[in-house]
Amino acid sequence: MFESRIDRLRERIAEEGLDALIVTDRKNREYLSGFTGSAGFLLVSPRGGVLATDFRYEEQAKAQSPHLAVYRYETPRDGLSRLVQAKKVGIVGFEAVHTSCWELAEWEEDNPDITWRQTRGLVESQRICKDEEEIRRIRQAARLTDKGFEHILEYLRPGVQEQEVALELEFFLRREGAEGVSFAPIVASGPNSALPHAQPGNRILESGDFVVLDFGVIIEGYCSDLTRTVVIGRASDRQREIYELVLKAQRYALGEVAPGKDAAAIDKGVRDIFAAEGVAEYFGHGLGHGVGLEVHEEPTLSSRSKDELRAGMLVTVEPGLYFPGWGGVRIEDLVLLTSQGMENLSSSPKDFLVL
Ligand code: ZN
Ligand code: ZN
Repeated sequence: MFESRIDRLRERIAEEGLDALIVTDRKNREYLSGFTGSAGFLLVSPRGGVLATDFRYEEQAKAQSPHLAVYRYETPRDGLSRLVQAKKVGIVGFEAVHTSCWELAEWEEDNPDITWRQTRGLVESQRICKDEEEIRRIRQAARLTDKGFEHILEYLRPGVQEQEVALELEFFLRREGAEGVSFAPIVASGPNSALPHAQPGNRILESGDFVVLDFGVIIEGYCSDLTRTVVIGRASDRQREIYELVLKAQRYALGEVAPGKDAAAIDKGVRDIFAAEGVAEYFGHGLGHGVGLEVHEEPTLSSRSKDELRAGMLVTVEPGLYFPGWGGVRIEDLVLLTSQGMENLSSSPKDFLVL
């Protein structure tokens, strides 16, 4: 698996006219090597790959990346210079998005004979379509996330604090096998539900509140992402109406997600549904995003997206409406694009739930 990923990258490196590529981004490094340590980089050339790390991770690197030579450095700066000098490379690509100006200045100072070339998205473009193993992990993560939602429903009632709900959710997910959460769970109640990325605080849930729950887990390095919105106690007609409208928009988008479709067009279709009801301005974020080693990665489902959907992509579909001071609704599923269309990996109920 890792060998074939490196092989594909080596072809790209040759096509780009590079003698080698330095992979410093942690997730790109993990994707290519399986190595999960917090320090290290890869040097990949058309001839092969080296995983460089420090003393703390040497044994772990050898165990996790038997397909790569492991090189131990004193400092990353020193290790990088020694490697590029030993490999006698002339043109070295680096991940411009993941490299600081300071690091580049050091590399240039240490190796004036080398041409350093900016690259962008060489590994990310490979990560965009998932292989079977990645899909297996994300599927498992999505399943556990659904279990988390089912669990937390019993816990939601007037009188509990947002923060307590978030903690209970995280505790449950970890106990059930998650390595971690893919981001700090969002539990946003009442007026806080109008903030798309609210942080759970000390607000106490009250009857009549919308509660937006947005969370995910990490299984073997891979993330999931799910949002559900429920009402506590008693719901108003307006709450039901807004909820049904968001659900209608989400169902529309789920029906459109398929290989060959234009991501921006699906986003536009959702905005048109909201515009017909005069609420388009209350949907201020993109419709969805890719999920994998990172909870937000390519492709993007938004008005600015240039992405065309392809089989093997994993994307969220998450329309929402947010009314400042009143509350908000978001419904988010995680969807796998297949050659036949799509498979929804999220199975948590989406009926209008009043708890
Ligand atoms: Zn989410
Ligand atoms: Zn999301």
